[in-house]
Amino acid sequence: MTTLAFDNSYAALPDAFHTRLDPTPVKAPRLLAFNDDLARLTGLDSVPPEERAAVFGGNRVPEGAAPLAQLYAGHQFGNYNPQLGDGRAILLGEVVGSDGIRRDIQLKGSGPTPYSRMGDGRAWLGPVLREYVVSEAMHALGIPTTRALAAVATGEDIWREQGALPGAVLTRVARSHLRVGTFQVFAHRGEIDALKTLTEYAIRRHYPEATGPMDLLRAVCAAQAGLVAQWMSVGFIHGVMNTDNAAISGETIDYGPCAFMDAFHAGRVFSSIDQQGRYAYANQPNIAVWNMAQLATALLQQLDDKEAAVEEATEVIHAMPKQIEHAWRSRFAAKIGISAPTEADMPLIEGLLALMQKDGADFTNTFRALGDEGARDHFVDRDAFDAWAEGWRARIAAEPDPQKVMNAANPAVIPRNHRIEQMIQAAVAGDMTPFERLTKALSTPFRSTDPALARPPTEDEIVPATFCG
Ligand code: AMP
Ligand code: MG
Ligand code: MG
Repeated sequence: MTTLAFDNSYAALPDAFHTRLDPTPVKAPRLLAFNDDLARLTGLDSVPPEERAAVFGGNRVPEGAAPLAQLYAGHQFGNYNPQLGDGRAILLGEVVGSDGIRRDIQLKGSGPTPYSRMGDGRAWLGPVLREYVVSEAMHALGIPTTRALAAVATGEDIWREQGALPGAVLTRVARSHLRVGTFQVFAHRGEIDALKTLTEYAIRRHYPEATGPMDLLRAVCAAQAGLVAQWMSVGFIHGVMNTDNAAISGETIDYGPCAFMDAFHAGRVFSSIDQQGRYAYANQPNIAVWNMAQLATALLQQLDDKEAAVEEATEVIHAMPKQIEHAWRSRFAAKIGISAPTEADMPLIEGLLALMQKDGADFTNTFRALGDEGARDHFVDRDAFDAWAEGWRARIAAEPDPQKVMNAANPAVIPRNHRIEQMIQAAVAGDMTPFERLTKALSTPFRSTDPALARPPTEDEIVPATFCG
């Protein structure tokens, strides 16, 4: 029997926080992918190779685990759902890594739970591999994110709109799975003791310097402000920024119909279920603020002096757009080689984005080409670009090493949607080579190691929409 050094703090919280249950075993677990670096970091490399399919498929619960499904609620597309919870995930437990960081080990697609509602508790191979590739790419890009430790094929069919699909289980590793929705569920039910317990737990686990609920709010807002600016800077669209998909840790979580943009457009939406464009690329900062307002509303229920708390929370939330703008400006300034931007640099950044949008220039490659004189070729209106570049060159003349700044801010390769789709199709057909290739190239995204993966999709290859799992 595999024994792991689990140290389970969430399982020790009151019963109302979770339901204890084991993953549902699968028919024929087969290990498709295993993240050796992350395994070493978390100590999970101690699971012997021959046991990995059984452990990370959910068939064998390792000694020391305390499997459970977490309770949470959340606003989905702006509408409050009083009870969500892990409908297809099981938290096995927590481990403290060799870096001293505590992390959740969670199986996703591990079978039904009391929170499954109409769902089957399962995931199919496509979303499992998409989350694996994209979350690991985000990590390599330096963006806070949950990570992927393993993908296991279940040997079972999963029924979705498209028909029967191969099932899979993802092992997800996260600083925690505390969500805005975890606070909401207790606040909305008026369970103030649980809300206080959760607040103390979140502070202890993530922001030990925070002095109370409003200070926790401040810390989460800062983390989320930085996060959304980072998403914007790589052309990432999360797709489902519901409050149950907003992590208190500030990590990107719950990769569903997410995608990276090819041609730049501020209004870009990929998710097939986001009909109104609520979670469109350029609306993400607004939604991050809206989500933090929901967290504020939940947190302040536990404070006795409501009037003072509302005032303080309002101040924190109102400060957030400026915080995001500031982070956004630093990220985008770096993309054009400016290391210490001021407000005066905004027109230069916005001017380039406007030209890119007008001409449908490729977001990743245009920025990457700025340093090597190749950017001009990405535009239809070359005169307009030349005019912009004149002002830009004048500005970066004052920079000590603009090329270095740009190279560190502009990835050579991102997980392009068409490559993800091709990778999924291959995997369904039993060929993991495209998965291996993508994972490898995306582990060093600021170096061009596989130039073909940097190519934007041809007309035929464009994948205009993404679907939930
Ligand atoms: P998501 O859109 O993945 O953030 O999920 C929203 C809610 O639906 C969460 O409570 C999930 O656990 C639940 N859910 C999503 N897919 C399934 C499924 N196949 N079976 C059961 N619950 C699911
Ligand atoms: Mg319970
Ligand atoms: Mg979710």
